[in-house]
Amino acid sequence: MLKGKNALVTGSTSGIGLGIATALAETGCGIVLNGFGDRAAIDRIAADLEARFGVRTHYSAADMSKPSEIRAMLTEAEAVLGSVDVLVNNAGIQFTSPIDEFPDDRWDAVIAINLSSAFHTTKAALPSMKSRGWGRIVNIASAHGLVGSADKSAYVAAKHGLVGLTKVAALETANTGVTVNAICPGWVLTPLVEKQIADGAHRDGVTVEQARHDLLAEKQPLLQFTTPAQLGALAVFLCSDSAATMTGAALPIDGAWTAH
Ligand code: NAD
Repeated sequence: MLKGKNALVTGSTSGIGLGIATALAETGCGIVLNGFGDRAAIDRIAADLEARFGVRTHYSAADMSKPSEIRAMLTEAEAVLGSVDVLVNNAGIQFTSPIDEFPDDRWDAVIAINLSSAFHTTKAALPSMKSRGWGRIVNIASAHGLVGSADKSAYVAAKHGLVGLTKVAALETANTGVTVNAICPGWVLTPLVEKQIADGAHRDGVTVEQARHDLLAEKQPLLQFTTPAQLGALAVFLCSDSAATMTGAALPIDGAWTAH
C-alpha cells in the first residue's frame, strides 16, 4: 500500500513507535528509525525490518529536544531515502510530580520532547510533502491530550498542545493532499508505563501484577492494554486512501477512558 513511500517515526527504537514503524514497513514503506538505545540492538531492528518486509531503512540518533538535530534529521532522511512522505511524531517521556514540586528542567524536557519536537519536524517536513501533493502526519498524543490527571502537568499540557497543533496543521494543509491527525491511546504496556507500574508497586507495597491491575482500573473501564501493533494498524489506516478526508481528528483508542 505504501510501496515507494518513506516514513519517519520519532522514538521508534522502543514501544509504540517500534510497533508503528513495523506496521508501516509491512505495507512496503521505507522507514527512518529514531530514538535512543543500544546501537547494536537498533541495528538488529533495522536489519529485521529490511529482511522481513524488503524495505529500506535509515537510523537517526537525533535528540528530539534539540531543534537543530531535528532539522538535520529531516534533511538527512530526505537525502538518504529520497522523501519523507509519512511523519509520525511519537517520541515522548513522562515525569510525575505535583506542580508545586515539579522541577523546572523536567517541565522543559517534557514540553520539548513531547510537543515542540512535533512543531519542528512538521515545519521541516511540510514543504516537500506539499510540493509532492501527498503527505501523512500522525501525532501520537494520549488520552491525556483530551483529559487531565493529577501529577502530570507537563505531560498533559504537552499532549493537549499536540492535539491543538494537529488541528492547526490540518487547517493549514486542507486541499494540499496532506492530512494531519492525532491518535490518543489509553494504557499501552511499554517501558514508559512499566516504570509507572513499578513505581506504583513500590509506593503501595503491592505486587507488580496488582499494580498493573490498579493502574488500568483507576482510569480505563476496559481493563486491557492496547498493543503497539493495534496502534500501528490505526496509523496504517490513517495513511490509506480510505482516510484521505480524515484530517484534524484526535482519535481515542483508550478502552473508554475518555468516555466519561
Ligand atoms: P517508550 O519509552 O517505550 O518509547 C519512547 C521512545 O522515544 C523511545 O524510542 C525513546 O528512545 C524515544 N525518545 C525518548 N526521548 C527521546 C529524545 N529526546 N529524542 C529522541 N527519541 C527519544 O514509550 P512509549 O510508551 O512507546 O511512548 C511513545 C509515545 O506514546 C509517547 O509520546 C507517549 O507519550 C505516548 N503514549 C504512551 C502511552 C502508554 O500507555 N505507553 C499512552 C498514550 C500515549
